[in-house]
Amino acid sequence: MNKPFAIAIHGGAGTILRSQMTCDIRREIESALDMAVSQGHELLRQGKSAVDAVVCAVRILEDSPHFNAGKGSVLTDKEMVEMDAAVMSGKQRQAGAVAGIRHIRNPVLLARDVMQKSEHVLLIGEGAEEFASNLGYDYTEQDYFFTDRRYEQLLAMKEQGKVALSESHYPDDHKFGTVGAVALDAEGNLAAATSTGGVTNKHYGRVGDSPIIGAGTYAENHRVAVSATGMGEVFIRCCVASDVAARMRYLQEDIHTACTSVIQGDVKMLGGEGGLIAIDQNGEIHFGINCSGMYRGCIDIHGKKQIKIYADE
Ligand code: ASP
Repeated sequence: MNKPFAIAIHGGAGTILRSQMTCDIRREIESALDMAVSQGHELLRQGKSAVDAVVCAVRILEDSPHFNAGKGSVLTDKEMVEMDAAVMSGKQRQAGAVAGIRHIRNPVLLARDVMQKSEHVLLIGEGAEEFASNLGYDYTEQDYFFTDRRYEQLLAMKEQGKVALSESHYPDDHKFGTVGAVALDAEGNLAAATSTGGVTNKHYGRVGDSPIIGAGTYAENHRVAVSATGMGEVFIRCCVASDVAARMRYLQEDIHTACTSVIQGDVKMLGGEGGLIAIDQNGEIHFGINCSGMYRGCIDIHGKKQIKIYADE
């Protein structure tokens, strides 16, 4: 029998309300999620690696202005885009990540290159961009990432003196978020990738959980791959992604119990609004959400596709 393979993706979590969603926006978001999950799955079907699949899916979401990653990223207090991304391969637990990226169109590709072409796990700012330039990446002007919606959102947050998840309540009621993917390939390898612009009105230089291995992104073969989205500061303090793996390892919890314990437990208690996606070594998928919604999709081991938005779907 063929070995199972499957993929799950997310496009951010937060206060996503039916009352504020238009049909057009919903259609556009669902079609971007559909394209990302389908193309990632197609690579798995062709026998490509879980790393290839998660990078492909995340890259598609980075290119969509509807999500808080790549184009459409939220803005810092200095009215700039600063993006973070990570990729982890469950095979030998290799990982690569970048933070504070301002001029690279697809931070997830750079994170994969840090994993595959450097001696390091995490590169930041100028050093990361110089590494990219040495590899032949194009320098992308900030204008490319910038969207009016994000600017309006920033002004609203500045007025209130707050920072906010891209999916939190704010006067601009369209909800767009951080992106991530997890996959199991036919060789039994797990992988995870996450990419984000962070939170609106963040102090420039702030780094969230997404590029922190074990917080927003984690993969370990024979166990689980996790990509998280939510208030990064809490997710870092709770070591969210590696805590899921640790519960499975030490408590022998299954993926559903482990994810629920983490996301509905300490994370929620400490005010960490958000969610996560996870996949285990059998291709079992879990979506964990402790708020009203998370853009998400999957194609499971039976080839069944699902695209969902609200927590109660
Ligand atoms: N986790 C991201 C961060 O704090 C934000 C998000 O998931 O929307 O940078």
